Amino acid sequence: MFDPRDVYGIVRPRDVEEVRDTVRAFARAEGGPRLQALSTGRNWGLGSREPARDGVVTLELGGLDAVRDLSIEGGWAIVEPGVTQLRLADLLAGTDRMLNVTASSGHTSVLGNSIDRGVGLRRQRTLDLAGLEVVLPDGELVRVGWWPNGEHPGAVNPQGLGPSPLELFTQSDLGIVTAGVIRLLPRPEAQCVLRLGFGSSRLTEAVDELRRWTAQGLVSGVLKVYDTVSTRSYGGVADEYLAHLCVSGTERSVAAITQVIQDEAEGSGLFARVLRSDRHPPAPDDMVAHAVERLYAGDPSRNEAMLRSAVGREADRVDAEGGGWLFFLPLIPFTGRAVSRSQELLAQVHAETGVRPGSTVNALDPDVVDLVVSFRFPRTEHHAEQAHRALDRTYELFAEAGFHPYRLDSDHHAWVDRLSVDPAARAFVRRLKRTLDPRQVIAPGRYA
Ligand SMILES: Cc1cc2nc3c(=O)[nH]c(=O)nc-3n(C[C@H](O)[C@H](O)[C@H](O)COP(=O)(O)OP(=O)(O)OC[C@H]3O[C@@H](n4cnc5c(N)ncnc54)[C@H](O)[C@@H]3O)c2cc1C
Repeated sequence: MFDPRDVYGIVRPRDVEEVRDTVRAFARAEGGPRLQALSTGRNWGLGSREPARDGVVTLELGGLDAVRDLSIEGGWAIVEPGVTQLRLADLLAGTDRMLNVTASSGHTSVLGNSIDRGVGLRRQRTLDLAGLEVVLPDGELVRVGWWPNGEHPGAVNPQGLGPSPLELFTQSDLGIVTAGVIRLLPRPEAQCVLRLGFGSSRLTEAVDELRRWTAQGLVSGVLKVYDTVSTRSYGGVADEYLAHLCVSGTERSVAAITQVIQDEAEGSGLFARVLRSDRHPPAPDDMVAHAVERLYAGDPSRNEAMLRSAVGREADRVDAEGGGWLFFLPLIPFTGRAVSRSQELLAQVHAETGVRPGSTVNALDPDVVDLVVSFRFPRTEHHAEQAHRALDRTYELFAEAGFHPYRLDSDHHAWVDRLSVDPAARAFVRRLKRTLDPRQVIAPGRYA
């Protein structure tokens, strides 16, 4: 229920040559519609398939769905846009590699999410991107970053030598991605997930304590803290803030570190509950805890239950029939003070608009939290209008507090300029666009 755009048609190429032909055809017609690429188009909460601008033809790349190559030893897979995380995760089951999976549906695109700089349970997906195959606006095909070289693939080096063009094609209107090299993580030999509950009065101190453990290397992957609204939205059980914290490694290192964290948690007196997955498995109806455990291990098979809880439908029917769902995705400092401030701002949004957002802390490293703010609402015109008003207000309040989004929805592309740290840098990127795409073959997307 974002603003609908004028979309003149949909093109579904079946291979890379058809993508290049399409791009060349659009390059010949001056002043015509522009191309907006997507992979599986399940960008829920950020506009799904809706382009940011009018006058486009959508290029749906889900039909390019080959896993072109896979090296367990080297730790990489070459995938096309239609390859879903469920499919790649299945291919890796039983091997000593795993995919950094997200909490979205298993039927979402590994490449689409990575290009939009999504976040998995192990780390931000851009860190998984080693190389991209891109069709440029004149139809030329280039490979940027790292690609395995025949019989001697060598070691992964995404930056290559000299200026690195890889990042030019994430959140980008400079090219259309037809394949990518995705890094595969070593599969841990053992894993334990701790669930730590605490009341809102302890939020600041508890987050500072979680940060301390992260900074000291006790935590594996992305530490998550759900508030009560978000836990319930995704189908979990909680009447308090609930942190999910993964420890992975060898059997003995996991046993030792889990015990260290348990002792630290109990010694701090901050946590009302300290539960370990090996001793206290989650209740059968706690979909979030079950899914999160599997996700840390690279298995997205429990995600569809969370999706159904969030939006009421299976992946294929979310956009047509699902409940309302919006995301606001800022990065905030990993400090108790910043997280508490974010909760005050969300309470203000609730008080002013009547809409109560949920939030989840995703700690990307000891300094940075990806705060996933979600708005869930019944799909009526009235509720949609109210939720979008709450989203607009959230953008404003968080920007004033210095908490800027790292991904944008299709209605808020103008925020790219508003949040730019240096107008000259924006002008530089626009100069690149004019140089590479003088005929505006590729539509300016959500980040232009
Ligand atoms: C319950 C729920 C949980 C979620 N959990 C997460 C989560 O844990 N992490 C997360 O990151 N997101 C999450 N999401 C948001 C979203 O569903 C995912 O980001 C999803 O992977 C995006 O859809 P997609 O993979 O089909 O990408 P697409 O919609 O195909 O692509 C996303 C964008 O990337 C660009 N793009 C895609 N393909 C190309 C291409 N070939 N060439 C050029 N540009 C391209 C386009 O701008 C496109 O709009 C969640 C959503 C819900 C509802």
